[in-house]
Amino acid sequence: MARYTGPVCRQCRRNGNKLFLKGERCYTPRCAIEKHRGKPGQQASQMMRSRITEYGTQLQEKQKARQMYGVLERQFKNYIDRANRMSGVTGDRLLQLLERRLDNAVYRMGFADSRNQARQLVNHGHFTVNGRKASIPSFLIKQGDLVSWREQSRKTEIFKIVSESLGKRPTPTWLTVDTGEVTGSITTLPEPTEIDSAIDTRMIVEFYSRR
Ligand code: SF4
Repeated sequence: MARYTGPVCRQCRRNGNKLFLKGERCYTPRCAIEKHRGKPGQQASQMMRSRITEYGTQLQEKQKARQMYGVLERQFKNYIDRANRMSGVTGDRLLQLLERRLDNAVYRMGFADSRNQARQLVNHGHFTVNGRKASIPSFLIKQGDLVSWREQSRKTEIFKIVSESLGKRPTPTWLTVDTGEVTGSITTLPEPTEIDSAIDTRMIVEFYSRR
């Protein structure tokens, strides 16, 4: 399945949840979900959603996670398979794998406004992990890794904007950001309690266990 290229806010409206796809705007009253909160159209779509089947709800939850993290269907299924092979609760491991993606870590560290932007920056080769160029958004970071901007990228306008606005968003407890050096390190691997994503991973695991 190809990557969605239409209006991003439409994905949130369809899902009925904030997926935080548009950066700064998502945290303001200009967010399309906030603007329509409590309005008649929104209430009607909430009623429609309350009538969908269990399968439909599970499917919706899976789509929500895919869209939030910007992961294609096949990649997502690979994460599920990998989480199934790991010890612990499958849903928790799935969430951990998604959070460990380099593009997500770059976003969480505040080096990008959204995961979409983070994916682009990683793709364009702006980052190193432990001193080595890392340009694959799905690269999985691990405990102790150091994510840094490449030397030549530190001369760009985007780096200037990022370094001036660092610290605006709270940094998750599993990451440490050095605002002076503009680097980020992985203190520990994220556990579900440290991840602020409104995803019901149990439903996603149930969705895949039907297949
Ligand atoms: Fe979703 Fe962000 Fe658009 Fe709000 S502003 S609808 S959270 S993408």
